[in-house]
Amino acid sequence: MPGRILVVDDVWANVKLLEAKLSAEYFEVVTATSGPEALEIMAREMPDIVLLDIMMPNMDGFEVCQKIRQDPATTHLPVIMITALSDPGDRVRGIEAGADDFLTKPVEDVALFARVRSLLRLKMMMDEWLLREQTSQSFGMQGRERSLPSLDMSGAKIMLVESSEIDIANFCESMARDEHLIEVVTDHDTAYSTAAAADFDLIVVDLNLEKGDSLRLVSHFRAGEHTRQTPILMFGEVDQVDRLAKALDLGVNDYILKPFDRNEILARVRTQIRRRRFQDLMRQHYEQSLSLALTDSLTGLYNRRYLMTHLEGLMGNVTERVKTMAVLMLDVDHFKNVNDSHGHPVGDKVLRDLAGLMLLSVRNVDTVARIGGEEFVIVIPDTSPEIAHRVAERVRKRIADHEVLVDGLTDPLRVTISIGGAISTGDLEEIESLLSRADSALYKAKGAGRDQVIFSEDA
Ligand code: GH3
Ligand code: MG
Ligand code: MG
Repeated sequence: MPGRILVVDDVWANVKLLEAKLSAEYFEVVTATSGPEALEIMAREMPDIVLLDIMMPNMDGFEVCQKIRQDPATTHLPVIMITALSDPGDRVRGIEAGADDFLTKPVEDVALFARVRSLLRLKMMMDEWLLREQTSQSFGMQGRERSLPSLDMSGAKIMLVESSEIDIANFCESMARDEHLIEVVTDHDTAYSTAAAADFDLIVVDLNLEKGDSLRLVSHFRAGEHTRQTPILMFGEVDQVDRLAKALDLGVNDYILKPFDRNEILARVRTQIRRRRFQDLMRQHYEQSLSLALTDSLTGLYNRRYLMTHLEGLMGNVTERVKTMAVLMLDVDHFKNVNDSHGHPVGDKVLRDLAGLMLLSVRNVDTVARIGGEEFVIVIPDTSPEIAHRVAERVRKRIADHEVLVDGLTDPLRVTISIGGAISTGDLEEIESLLSRADSALYKAKGAGRDQVIFSEDA
């Protein structure tokens, strides 16, 4: 995982030590020996993470951190504070100043790399978010904020796998401020089933459970489809650094040593939940842009692009399983007249009504798409010719019987449609040829007087 890390410490030897460790892991390191110098560097070239010493003359780490948070350009930059002593007071002040994480001097390798990687992942996610926002903006999508969303970090669903009563109580009390929903599980088997049944934002596992191997549990979570993306935080003991390193290799996102400091665990849990929520937000966003690309904005139906991809997939199935699939091509009769007599907005209203009627007339597995101005396609997979005829006739009749309500119009507005159908059997047939057979049948239906259904096979 590449990343540029800014190391800030007034003692040159400390800077050099961290630089050596991080460079050996192929991180790009930039250094500063004072707060003002660090801020200057950030203004010039943005790092991905800041490792910030607290005790510095003139401007201490708290003040630097506050300044980072106040500047919109750096407000989301992860900051790890480095404390000389593991003083709980420092940690509280650090959290208040906006630090994401803490490390205690002398900085120990496993801890350093675990924290840096964990925050780098979060940072990459935030960067990707900003990039996608910019992309949607360049496509002229409206109503989105440029800045990162302020995510609520409370009320998360957490599963705690822990057999020690004291640690369970400690953890739950530490989390009280953020009002998380905590499900406590004391053994492996229950952990497996609980994780599979619910969607957790975070899983916390003690490395030392009374029974069972926690590392095996972690591998299981990472392999499982349901838990693959769920952040995992691990409890360990001071003398277990090697096993914790192994846990990180297996996909644990972060760890904390017992007995744990309440503020520290709160901060670490928040970091993981923030990452999780970003992930969810990005997925939603992705699905949204996907739906924008594949649906028609007037009717909400699928568009031609989606239809063609969908048909390709279905055709593969048809030839494999020798099932029958029907395609209906629908075109509104004399639609030009509707626009000419009542105006384009009324024409749009008619199209939206028709889309709704078509959706009402088909099953969930059938697909309705708008492929042109007043042209639609309905795909009916796994069907028989009889059912396909029945569906087509049902759609035609429902539309013919429908009255379009238009403001200011005394007589109800009615439209009819013509439908051309084509049925594909197990034989290899190009999608284009199937659609063109349906289209010819539609042409015949128009010629035969409109408001009727003709199938290619019967024509
Ligand atoms: P036919 O029975 O032969 O299909 O006659 P028609 O008038 O429906 O056929 P034609 O293809 O000549 O006209 C289609 C009309 O649909 C022309 C166009 O202005 C209108 N149209 C296409 N897209 C839209 C749209 O999104 N909204 C509205 N209101 N009208 C549209
Ligand atoms: Mg028409
Ligand atoms: Mg037309």
